[in-house]
Amino acid sequence: MKTMKAVVFKGKNKIAVEEVPRPVPRAGEAVIRITTTTICGTDVHIVRGEYPVKPGLIIGHEPVGVIDELGPGLDELYTVGQRVIVGAITPCGQCFYCLNGTHSQCGGGIGGWRFGNTINGAWAEYLLVPDARANLAPIPAGLSDEDVMLCPDIFSTGLSGAESGNIRVGDAVAVFAQGPIGLCATLGAKLKGAALIIAVDVNDQRLKAARSFGANVTLNLKDGDPIHEIKRLTDGRGVDVAIEALGRQDTFENALRAIRPGGTLSSLGVYSGKLVAPYEAFYAGLGDQKIVTTLCPGGKERMRRLMAMIESRRVDLTPLITHQYSLDDIEEALDLFSHQRDGVLKVALYPHGVASRDPAEIVFTGALHKAR
Ligand SMILES: [Zn+2]
Ligand SMILES: [Zn+2]
Repeated sequence: MKTMKAVVFKGKNKIAVEEVPRPVPRAGEAVIRITTTTICGTDVHIVRGEYPVKPGLIIGHEPVGVIDELGPGLDELYTVGQRVIVGAITPCGQCFYCLNGTHSQCGGGIGGWRFGNTINGAWAEYLLVPDARANLAPIPAGLSDEDVMLCPDIFSTGLSGAESGNIRVGDAVAVFAQGPIGLCATLGAKLKGAALIIAVDVNDQRLKAARSFGANVTLNLKDGDPIHEIKRLTDGRGVDVAIEALGRQDTFENALRAIRPGGTLSSLGVYSGKLVAPYEAFYAGLGDQKIVTTLCPGGKERMRRLMAMIESRRVDLTPLITHQYSLDDIEEALDLFSHQRDGVLKVALYPHGVASRDPAEIVFTGALHKAR
């Protein structure tokens, strides 16, 4: 049996780099050789035991790679050696939920999220892709792994916050938390035509990044309650759309307090425990407000659209990639990422060694730190 290197979840706060069996594709499935992947905030929750997955599972849900083997039925669509990405969410395209347009809920609640959740994930040398026909998205020629690395989750999720919020041209929008997803939500608000984009965070470096992603006002929570300033900037009304990009009671509450009557709270965060809507911000339930939640849209057509934005240079996400690590150094990378040290935004992980190409060829506008 062929084996591969993979990062395996062993239980709360415990992961290990191990040799495990290499996947073999059945009909309709493909195996890709992972060239680049990354760490998501959700992975941190998983490692800490805050989001339950089975011990023994390979974590990670953001794959960039090359088709290594195709199961029966895919020869006419794809070729071995083709460079592809796969969304973090892998809908089947055929079930009740997919055919009702809620692909991320494929098969049932949160069911579309399979990699590193219910099936083995991308922190490995090879990855089995289910329903490959719906999910393998070829990378346009000329784009590097790093160019497209954030499409499977971060860009798709952040942008969906703006899309689900149904932002209209001229809207006032507040985005709460400016981590990688919040920054992509800020970018999404800009792409959707918001006139005023207010970015809120506690980290000045992230607020600075928010400006380059489209925010025209930044508010640091350390300077006091942001709602007063948000109301002042919107003639006392509040914003048309607030995007929550962290998954905590306080950010949810602030986002609710920030929207005007009839406004929309578009929630992207992953919450734990009970969530409370305070009486006044909720207008006793009579404020004509909308609260919408979104799980990262996946599938190859979504990925094609996101990559088209990058290929046409409408969007450049490489400033978000601040660090590079070999997959062997996952512990170090996770430690840095989870503690937000050294100005980290996103970490590129390379299962086959650091950097898929010479970093000198990659034009980074952000600070790039290469490990070892
Ligand atoms: Zn994620
Ligand atoms: Zn489905």
